[in-house]
Amino acid sequence: MAQILADRRDIDFVIWEQFNGEELLKHKALSGYNRKTCELMLTEARKLAINEVYPTMTDGDREGVHLENGVVKVPASYHRVFQLMKEGEWGNLMVSEEMGGQAAPPHIGLSTAEYFMAANWSLYSYLSMGNAAAEMIQLYGTAEQKEKYIKKMTSATWGGTMLLTESGAGSDVGALTTTAVGNDDGSFSLTGEKIFITNGEHDLAENIIHPVLARIEGAPAGTKGISIFIVPKFLVNDDGSLGERNDIQCTGIEEKMGIHGSATCTMTLGAKGKCVGYLLGEANKGLKVMFHMMNHARMATGLQGMAYASAAYLLALNYARQRIQGRDLKDFFDHSAPAVPIIKHPDVRRNLLKMKSYVDGMRSFFYYVTTIGMKEKLGETEEDRSFHGDLFGLFTPIIKDYLSVKGHDVCIQAIQVYGGAGYTQDYPVEQYARDCKIASIYEGTSGIQAMDFLARKIGMRKGTIFGHFIGEIQKTVAEAKKMEELSDLAGKVEAAANKLVEVTMHIGKTAMSLEYKTAFAHSVPFLETVGDTIMAWMLLWRSVVACRQLAADTKKKDTAFYKGQIKTAEFFIRTILPSAIGNMEAIMSTCSAAIEIDDDGFGGL
Ligand SMILES: Cc1cc2nc3c(=O)[nH]c(=O)nc-3n(C[C@H](O)[C@H](O)[C@H](O)COP(=O)(O)OP(=O)(O)OC[C@H]3O[C@@H](n4cnc5c(N)ncnc54)[C@H](O)[C@@H]3O)c2cc1C
Repeated sequence: MAQILADRRDIDFVIWEQFNGEELLKHKALSGYNRKTCELMLTEARKLAINEVYPTMTDGDREGVHLENGVVKVPASYHRVFQLMKEGEWGNLMVSEEMGGQAAPPHIGLSTAEYFMAANWSLYSYLSMGNAAAEMIQLYGTAEQKEKYIKKMTSATWGGTMLLTESGAGSDVGALTTTAVGNDDGSFSLTGEKIFITNGEHDLAENIIHPVLARIEGAPAGTKGISIFIVPKFLVNDDGSLGERNDIQCTGIEEKMGIHGSATCTMTLGAKGKCVGYLLGEANKGLKVMFHMMNHARMATGLQGMAYASAAYLLALNYARQRIQGRDLKDFFDHSAPAVPIIKHPDVRRNLLKMKSYVDGMRSFFYYVTTIGMKEKLGETEEDRSFHGDLFGLFTPIIKDYLSVKGHDVCIQAIQVYGGAGYTQDYPVEQYARDCKIASIYEGTSGIQAMDFLARKIGMRKGTIFGHFIGEIQKTVAEAKKMEELSDLAGKVEAAANKLVEVTMHIGKTAMSLEYKTAFAHSVPFLETVGDTIMAWMLLWRSVVACRQLAADTKKKDTAFYKGQIKTAEFFIRTILPSAIGNMEAIMSTCSAAIEIDDDGFGGL
């Protein structure tokens, strides 16, 4: 069986059955779309991903990218498929029409993205990274900047990047040293070096537009003095044609653990000539502008983790159905009994169901947050939009971190299901595991996401945003309690949600006390327990929908699928959620050993 990348039946379940996609399509902003057109788009994207994009994934990994005379050459097979995707406008589905995109319903845009990311994230990123940069220009740019750059970027004629990181400024962006000096014509000349820049240079686009963070001469130190500049690889003439080559050069590329097809570049600005940049938005307000893009990128990174996990799970599942090894446990003493596919072994089944529970839970959570994002944009009133904006903000670090960390765990478990074969390059699961690891590092590491969640997010609007989230869990619990087969599971999710409130109050208070360092030493486990509780909630919610559908499914054609939902929830809630509650207990114990241990006490001296 060919790699199927993502479970179409499951995606349809989430979009149309769990989140009532047809209701969402009634919004006037989506009037050009109906269920049929959406399904057709997804079918076409799936075909393209499986037949054209996926075959480039291993090429990209083995061939990698090469820097030759300042130009980065991407893997040879990327060129034709990039053109196919560009011509089909698969990179700008969710971009507004005003910006040259197709304004597709977010659920459909994201499900196509799930397929493309699972097929070859590295290739897809060359196509789609310009969108987020273009959106920043749309929000903060001048009329001239919008006219010059946006449509070329959203059509992938020109690429886009984001240049924050420097060798001394990674998690602490405020430490950056790239400087900008004003020119007489209102532009700026930039000098500095940025490292680890994704797609900083490549041969797939005519031009690349770099949003660059830098400090204008004399600006305050730290984040308060950061501005953002548009720095084109080729300057753009007033008529839109390409002008002089700007002095922003790729001076090195990284050899990495994974995503070998993606160019990770050192970019040197203004070392040999003039690197011209144009201020985007107001001086010293660059971080606010860049955060707009970062939040977009953090959602996309969560999706990346989930897409890899889904693809790796399906590969492992397929392998487990085919690999014959060992006798069924019931024939333990019968040496003449036939060998069986490994999916018959209890431990392999446990492993597969664990992977499935995370993949299903993560997919539902991602679409749930997407729905909130839609309400933030399309809400009727300012208050409604602002409320959903805050709710979206609460969930962004969880999407970014939990999906990337658990996504990677699932990829590792997929290798385990394959046994020795999974550790070899004969099968793609080892590549998924290598490629996935970066997701919990870039766009802000786990530590940074967890700090954001604890320090800024749980207290938003005096805790009422967090309270709303708990209220949403309680609504699902109440629905599930009405169903005989779910009422016990509902009770367990309710208990976990109540415990989570207790832990949140405890860690929140500790973070504001003299023991604040201890609180932050528990911030990553805290974020993880929030994510685990959300998984349990999402799987319970799926089961509520599945129970209703089972009752209505008179033709019994989807019985296995729906019953599978209930078994998945049962597995997670009975066997994984208790560990999460144990972790909550551990956080409540306020253990300060990690803070108290002497630096020398760590050993290794
Ligand atoms: C493949 C790849 C692609 C990338 N693409 C881009 C890109 O396109 N553009 C771009 O600008 N950057 C990019 N990056 C950079 C990436 O965003 C940074 O690597 C990341 O933010 C971490 O910074 P750092 O590597 O300097 O690690 P450090 O900041 O040195 O962090 C090291 C460790 O210390 C922890 N830590 C640091 N500070 C704190 C703190 N205050 N509290 C708690 N823990 C802390 C971190 O969590 C981490 O575990 C990319 C990196 C890679 C590897």
